[in-house]
Amino acid sequence: MNRRQFLQASLAGTLLASCKSAPKKEPPAGKQDVVVLGFDGVDPRLLESWMKAGDLPNLQSLSREGGLHRLGSTSPPNSPVAWSTFATGRHPSQHGVFGFLRRDPENYLPGTAPYTIRAPRFKPDGYREPQAVSHRQGDAFWEILDARGVPATLLFVPYAYPPPEMKHGRVLSGLGTPDLRFTNSSFTLFTTESTDSDRVAGGRIVRLKPQSGKIETRLEGSRGPGGKYLQVPLRLELDRKNGSVGIILGEKNETLSVGKRSGWFPLRFKAGDVVLQGRVRFHLLGVKKDLKLYASPIQLDPNMPALPLGTPSDWMQKAVEVHGGLPTVGWVHDTAAVNAGVLPPEVFLGEVLDTMEARADLLLREMEDNFARLLIGVFTGTDRAGHIFHRQTRDPDGGPLRKVYRAMDRIVGAAKKKMRPGTRLLVLSDHGFHAFDRQLHVNTWLESHKWFRRERPGSEVKFLRGVDWKKTRAYSMGNGQLYVNLKGRESAGSVPGGNQRKALLESIRERLLAIKDPVNGQRVVSAVYDVADQADEAVRRWAPDLQIAFSPGYRSSWETSLGGAPAGEALADNPKAWCGDHAASDVAHTPGFLLSNAKIRHEDPSLVDLSSTILGLFQAPVSGPGRPLLG
Ligand SMILES: [Zn+2]
Repeated sequence: MNRRQFLQASLAGTLLASCKSAPKKEPPAGKQDVVVLGFDGVDPRLLESWMKAGDLPNLQSLSREGGLHRLGSTSPPNSPVAWSTFATGRHPSQHGVFGFLRRDPENYLPGTAPYTIRAPRFKPDGYREPQAVSHRQGDAFWEILDARGVPATLLFVPYAYPPPEMKHGRVLSGLGTPDLRFTNSSFTLFTTESTDSDRVAGGRIVRLKPQSGKIETRLEGSRGPGGKYLQVPLRLELDRKNGSVGIILGEKNETLSVGKRSGWFPLRFKAGDVVLQGRVRFHLLGVKKDLKLYASPIQLDPNMPALPLGTPSDWMQKAVEVHGGLPTVGWVHDTAAVNAGVLPPEVFLGEVLDTMEARADLLLREMEDNFARLLIGVFTGTDRAGHIFHRQTRDPDGGPLRKVYRAMDRIVGAAKKKMRPGTRLLVLSDHGFHAFDRQLHVNTWLESHKWFRRERPGSEVKFLRGVDWKKTRAYSMGNGQLYVNLKGRESAGSVPGGNQRKALLESIRERLLAIKDPVNGQRVVSAVYDVADQADEAVRRWAPDLQIAFSPGYRSSWETSLGGAPAGEALADNPKAWCGDHAASDVAHTPGFLLSNAKIRHEDPSLVDLSSTILGLFQAPVSGPGRPLLG
């Protein structure tokens, strides 16, 4: 049995064992009135086809109870935007989260859209603790219910960060929770292989001399005094003959064989009186020829988290310890390490299945605990595996993603067995998926129409640095977000408001819709949506003027996402292992799915309806555009 088969069998086994561990006669009648299970990025077309093939019996049986529906997503259909709509029952124009990133019109710098994480600062005049601030407008339905005394448990709800303070609830935060470098997620690879660079997107590479025996190195944390990285010493003892490495870090040591993952190593990064606590685990990818030791992103320590992880803290600390210790970083599946060629896809798949199993353990334990009347658990492995394995869904066996969908099905089945009769179950995804084969360098394309100008011809533009703002009329950053360089809003604005702005937007829209890919003659852009003109006053400053909605197979380029403008052709192949996407797709073609054990009232349910639906089930007052979907 290889590792993948083992993990699959183990997931099935654990879920079964969890059910079996209940009292013999009847499973405990869970107290929950409403259970919501979210599976990020599950595409309804793949779901339907694998359901039809008999792969997903639990979801199939649920579809016979309440029907299988496509669930309208948000524009753009990506997680920060969509889960903010799920939480608040508001459109993006109201909650103000328009993408993963937003630019500050003061300085054109990118920041995360749903929240800001501020790393700790060590300055001569004192230490500033790390901070997390939410930018989302509008109350989440769980906050409204908490005020009415409804006990709720939230497990890994994406982009509900920082976690809300709940008087009657339990929260373990999910997507949005940073690592201890205060980034989205940042791995380290220790290797004796030669490498071009020590920095890759989402990680660092520590090149070690190809010596045998003992290696003394360091694991870096966040920046400390003087801008230098805080470090802890790490000792590696290589045993090439036996294919293992002894890892000595802090007070713990463990010998790891090739292909195995270690337990968690506690870490303490010190700078004067300041201590930042975390934990890290390792995966030994190779040692016989070259050492390749992957260190996970450094996780916040639940016992002394540098930023909030959940509430109440005694419950949260126990919750994190299930299954040998859950990872706490929000971006829990390390797609960056796959993109960098560090983590082999099969190891990544094993990690995805293992984390799903671990989170399912906690979900089932929480169901048995009979604490919450409302329980929400969200799994993100379905989305991350979709990004990496989308291309293989065209294979006759559906590739690895099909295995992840089967794991989802087993989780739904196990949860259903724990529910008392009468509990309302909602199972949903926030958006669907498409192939991502070709990419548009949007700023480079704008430049070809003289709407964007770099400081010097051929010079590099990254993070919107190196742009001639006097001559730039429009620019892009994020996933399909396009901004006018507007006078009075942007600090170096060049375009007056009113008719001149309108005419510019119309020209850009017309040209975008006319782009044909010379490789295959296909239309690259499916639609162009107005955003800022629709946005509420309170959030308009952060809204892009236009949202480019790409045709299936296309997306704005990796470089554009971070405000780059590579010289050369505007259209290029997507060079990365990350081969599926949705973040800048057209909402019209990218729905999620909705299943329930009760009849859905409307034919065209949408994510914006979920908040009203759940508030309605608890007889709480409903406001906003959403419609209650259940009677
Ligand atoms: Zn995704």
